[in-house]
Amino acid sequence: MDIERLQRLNTCLFRIFLGVLVALGVLMGWYFYQGGWEQLQQSRFLARFLPSQVIRGPEIALIAGHKGFDSGAICDDGVMEALINEDITERVADILRKQGVSVEILNEYDPRLEGLKVQALVSIHADSCIDQSGFKVASAEQTIIPEQDALLVSCLTEAYSQHTGLKFRANAITPNMTQYHAFQRVSPMTPGAIIETGYLGGDRALLVEAPERAAEGIAAGILCFLDAQRNGSTSPTPQS
Ligand SMILES: [Zn+2]
Repeated sequence: MDIERLQRLNTCLFRIFLGVLVALGVLMGWYFYQGGWEQLQQSRFLARFLPSQVIRGPEIALIAGHKGFDSGAICDDGVMEALINEDITERVADILRKQGVSVEILNEYDPRLEGLKVQALVSIHADSCIDQSGFKVASAEQTIIPEQDALLVSCLTEAYSQHTGLKFRANAITPNMTQYHAFQRVSPMTPGAIIETGYLGGDRALLVEAPERAAEGIAAGILCFLDAQRNGSTSPTPQS
């Protein structure tokens, strides 16, 4: 084999090598773009080899009320609860992620709810189309972590009323809320709350025209809870 042929063979091999590298890069990019990182983080196989800080799920799980199941309340003019809930939920997730909190948005009956262990689960719903006003927050009727549940509820209640100006309607809380299905499915160590963000009837100005304020209120409530948890406190610290 003469030198020229050897050189050509070398360049040829080098090009193949480069081609394979580029293809691998594209494949990996595609994998992570498609949510592969989340899958990797939840992989039990990898969890054996990597430290727990690397393999961990989200800190906060949000349920976009009715998502993937039904439309929730539908008003005469076609306003649909599920769409309002999803819009607010995505805004909450955006705000939290910007604060460095990892968030997962779940469907109403998401299979991932089974045994879910996160710092907090918050389900976001809205009330019926009647001409009333006010919001509600509740946690599970039966819980083995009453202090944390109460802290989550009080953080959400305070922050939401501050950001939206809506009245908290404690006496309108129904068993539908305290016996909410997701509370029974997640790990008993996961603090959980469900919020009814307002009435699609009387609070339309907020829910339809200013959903960002509703989202800011919920996000501030969750941040208040996370702060208090980190500081080992059981009462909410006032948010500016
Ligand atoms: Zn609902």
